[in-house]
Amino acid sequence: MPELYEQSTESLLSALNAGDLSSRTLTTACLDRIDQLNKKLNAFVSVNADAALAKADAVDKRRATGQTIGLLQGLPVGVKDNICQAGVATTCGSRMLHNYCPPYDAHVVEQLNAEDGVIVGQLNMDEFAMGSSTETSASGVTRNPWNPEHSPGGSSGGAAAAVAAGMVPLALGSDTGGSIRQPASFCGVVGMKPTYGRVSRFGLVAFASSLDQIGPFARDVHGAALLLQVISGHDTRDTTSVDSVVANYTGQFNQSLEGLRIGIVDEHYGEGLDDEVEAAVRRGIERLESAGATVKSVKLPHARYSVATYYLIAPSEASSNLARYDGIHYGHRTEDFNSRNDGLIDLYCRSRGEGFGAEVKRRIMLGTYALSAGYYDAYYLKALKVRRRIREDFDKAFAEVDIIAGPVAPTAAFRIGEKMNDPLAMYLSDIYTISANLAGIPGISVPCGLTTNGLPIGLQLQASTFSETTLLQAAAMAETSGDTIGVCPVA
Ligand code: GLN
Repeated sequence: MPELYEQSTESLLSALNAGDLSSRTLTTACLDRIDQLNKKLNAFVSVNADAALAKADAVDKRRATGQTIGLLQGLPVGVKDNICQAGVATTCGSRMLHNYCPPYDAHVVEQLNAEDGVIVGQLNMDEFAMGSSTETSASGVTRNPWNPEHSPGGSSGGAAAAVAAGMVPLALGSDTGGSIRQPASFCGVVGMKPTYGRVSRFGLVAFASSLDQIGPFARDVHGAALLLQVISGHDTRDTTSVDSVVANYTGQFNQSLEGLRIGIVDEHYGEGLDDEVEAAVRRGIERLESAGATVKSVKLPHARYSVATYYLIAPSEASSNLARYDGIHYGHRTEDFNSRNDGLIDLYCRSRGEGFGAEVKRRIMLGTYALSAGYYDAYYLKALKVRRRIREDFDKAFAEVDIIAGPVAPTAAFRIGEKMNDPLAMYLSDIYTISANLAGIPGISVPCGLTTNGLPIGLQLQASTFSETTLLQAAAMAETSGDTIGVCPVA
């Protein structure tokens, strides 16, 4: 019998359902695993064992008395540290929010609670979700469970590492330019960015509001589909959340891919793509073809502008969203202030100077510059026009195919420290994920192989807006027909 942390979501759910496993036993096993591994990996920034066990007991009690149990049936879940839980420190990996305790729950947290998820703690991330390596957090670096010398990816690196290491079967992250899919790929787990508007961001600390989306991490596609089901749907508190029916995402697996049209993009296979990653991705696509899908080439001619476009739009929105952290309205306030000599501007400057790390400051400066009078048209407005072209490319491609398949990231997990002094190299690790955020479409990363050094490689599948069902079906097929990458070797 595999350990609990090695079991699939389906087997955990059926054991819970049959009464062979209690949520307390499972939650305790997760808490033990966190105890054992978190010092080494630093995936969780805080753990709330008492609240988790109390919730697990409540679910077990309701099950024992024959009452209805929510969809998650007492499965433990971790939450990225930019998703608000009432009364729980939500720091966004930043000194700026080191003492922020939200007075309310995010919509997704309400949904987790309502569907009987057991929230175990908050997961590490790059500061304000800006980064691809989980190295910029004020709570320290997170390590990749497949090889602790390597990065778990980012910005949701804590979530990916926690799921890969078996600390929790499920976790929530956020994806603004790849922050779910890239760490999922680096850690050999499933991670999905839903369509923009599918999940309410009420209670997600904003980074770039026209791009941010919350999504699931899981050990398998079934877990990701289940968690997506729980968090999706309309919420009047996020006006971008769409009022359309949420399909039954878990009910459609194991269907043949006969008739499914898969597009591959020649531009994906150019300079910068690692040979082993390319080979694993191509094998993954061939397996989908053997499962009945047809494969043809499609063009995304403007995709090569996506990194440049994103790094104007995302910092512009960030510079506006982060203006609220001035030490008065929100966030860290400097102690180096004397009201007799210093003015309000000194207070702002010192509070922001102390509270934000280098990457966040870089983004605020980039964004402020791009939005400033005189440069707005040349940078921000131009970027919006290119964004439209990128979206139109996808519209045309999805008239011909149902799914676009390709790499998630140009390489497997890079070493910790490798890209920290080279922001451009860091930005380029999102080259394949960013365009989905610019276009608003859903994307998923599914493990498709290992490098010769034993690091996971992800296959990215993307679909047109609100085609999550098709996307998950194809992902489930890619998973079941694939070489298993095995259990993460973390001790
Ligand atoms: N790595 C990208 C960035 O630094 C994307 C981050 C994200 O998706 N939150 O902006």
